[in-house]
Amino acid sequence: MASRSRIAVVEDNADNRLLVRAILQANYDLLEYESGAEALAAIPAAKPDLILLDISLPKMDGGQVLQKLRQDESLSAVPVIALTAHAMVGDREKYMQLGFDDYISKPITDVEAFRGTIERHLRRPQKPGS
Ligand code: MN
Repeated sequence: MASRSRIAVVEDNADNRLLVRAILQANYDLLEYESGAEALAAIPAAKPDLILLDISLPKMDGGQVLQKLRQDESLSAVPVIALTAHAMVGDREKYMQLGFDDYISKPITDVEAFRGTIERHLRRPQKPGS
C-alpha cells in the first residue's frame, strides 16, 4: 500500500482547520499548525509533501512565513498553496509573485476543485534545484 501524502495546514482559525480536516483526512495525513511560528518550528523536521498556508495569520502573515520556508533549501521543492479569504481580482498574480505555487480562496465551497488543486501539486514533477 502506497504511503499517504502528508499535508501541513497552517491556519489560525479553528473552524477553517476543522473544514480542511473534514475534507482531507480520509486521503492524507494532516499536520496542523495554528501560527507561523509553530509551523516554522516544526515543518523543517516534519517534511510534509505539501503546505496549505493561510495568508491572514496573527503576528507573522502567510507571506512572511513563506519567505522563511523558502530560505530552507530542503523545503524548496515542497509546494506551498496560499489560503485566503480576501479574494480579489489580481490576487492570483500577487500570490504567485510572492512565491506561492497556487492559491485557494476561502470559504472552500468547491471541494472537488480544492482536492484537484492539491492532487495536481502532489503529482507534479519536482522542480529542478535552484
Ligand atoms: Mn487566518
